[in-house]
Amino acid sequence: MVCFCFLVDQTKKVRRCKPVAGMCSRCGGGASVADMKTETRFCHVPFYWRSWKAIMCTFCGSVLRSYH
Ligand SMILES: [Zn+2]
Repeated sequence: MVCFCFLVDQTKKVRRCKPVAGMCSRCGGGASVADMKTETRFCHVPFYWRSWKAIMCTFCGSVLRSYH
């Protein structure tokens, strides 16, 4: 996989999110549960993607917990 790293890239997108109770351990901002989508692209053409859920900070964007 290493030799292909210049051709393959991954993008993370937040499809939707809603606030949940919780606090970010880094900045103390509010947490929200988000539907994430990870796209893996080869030469900018998506060939693999998956959806997953994550608890993330709405302020700094750090992922606090993820469910795959
Ligand atoms: Zn934060």
